Amino acid sequence: MSSFRHPDTRAIHAGLEGARALGAPVFPPIVQSATFYGGGPDEEGPLLYTRYGNNPNQLQVGLKVAALEGAEDGLVVASGMAAISLGLLSVLEAGSHLVSTAHLYGATRTFMEEELPRRGVRVTFVDPDQPGSWEEALEPSTHALYLELPTNPTLRLPDPRPVAALAQRIGIPLLVDSTFATPINFRPLEHGASLVMHSATKYLGGHSDLIAGVVVGTAARVDAVRTLLHRYGPALDPHAAWLLERGIRTLPVRMAHHNAQAAALAQWFKDQSEVTSVHHLSLPDHPDHELAKSLMDGFGGMLGIVLSGGAAAADAFVSGLEVAALAPSLGGVETLVSLPRLTSHRHMRLQDREAMGIPDGFVRISVGLEGLEDLKADFEAGLQRAEQVGAR
Ligand code: PLP
Repeated sequence: MSSFRHPDTRAIHAGLEGARALGAPVFPPIVQSATFYGGGPDEEGPLLYTRYGNNPNQLQVGLKVAALEGAEDGLVVASGMAAISLGLLSVLEAGSHLVSTAHLYGATRTFMEEELPRRGVRVTFVDPDQPGSWEEALEPSTHALYLELPTNPTLRLPDPRPVAALAQRIGIPLLVDSTFATPINFRPLEHGASLVMHSATKYLGGHSDLIAGVVVGTAARVDAVRTLLHRYGPALDPHAAWLLERGIRTLPVRMAHHNAQAAALAQWFKDQSEVTSVHHLSLPDHPDHELAKSLMDGFGGMLGIVLSGGAAAADAFVSGLEVAALAPSLGGVETLVSLPRLTSHRHMRLQDREAMGIPDGFVRISVGLEGLEDLKADFEAGLQRAEQVGAR
């Protein structure tokens, strides 16, 4: 566990303790080697091999995220989906049952609906808003609970504490995908989660220049994931691990700014006539605002708006943006927008999407670090385009 107390210090120095020999580089070099000398008859200790996740760059950055999350150990892998799939497979086996929130990143949902059953695992999806739904879904073979927070794209914050208490009562792990929160805004292990996964592609990397995933938890739980990394092989390339190390050093300052920018824009969108609703945890009328205030250290950089003109208005809003860009992904320094009806939620029927609070006019915004005035001007022009479409 890191001896540094403050997240700002951990983001910079954790994982690199002991690397201060005279003449050593202040920033760790990329160790672009697949393998390392060793494996003789008199040698003890693990074999070093980059697929095993024990290349120095991988080890350093895994420990850094563990320090930020308050975890015993951390392991980096090749993508967020590698972290999620290996995390799930490490706690499930043929005959197991999983209870998961229904509010999931699309690929996670597909993994649970199509891959887990191929391995003999059944999944029940629950509405985290329904009290008692987790408990009602339990079966004797339930081996894990799974939660994602805040949710994409409506930014709801299901309270993880009763779910964690339930998991602890029956002695099974709670897994949490905390990609949207980041350890700067929320640390699920402090509230009873057992294993936390991130798409490090997003805020942790922060510059839209790498694909990576992280798993953190107790040494034993992370070790179980490490075993699967050996077997399935989705190791993070040393260069990407090095880039991730560099990105995380500024995570606390970036998150503070993402949080502030998104809150300011949320307030601004509230006053725009073309916008019927704004989703951001900072807003007092958000259903989870009070909970977020008590549990989180920041409300996050993701924002959702609903345009009154529906799909045509949303299309007009995103086409022609000059500062923000239409692209998948999130969490980078640049502002990205996406249309859930065409991306994460395209497989859902309109009425099901609407029931989840995602009508056709929904635009998701990953608020970046550009000047607020430039973003407002860009979005103002977008709203004018949306209005013109509505007037036709
Ligand atoms: N989890 C969430 C919440 C995501 O938004 C994403 C990607 O968008 C992932 C996991 C998957 O991450 P990756 O693309 O790094 O595999």
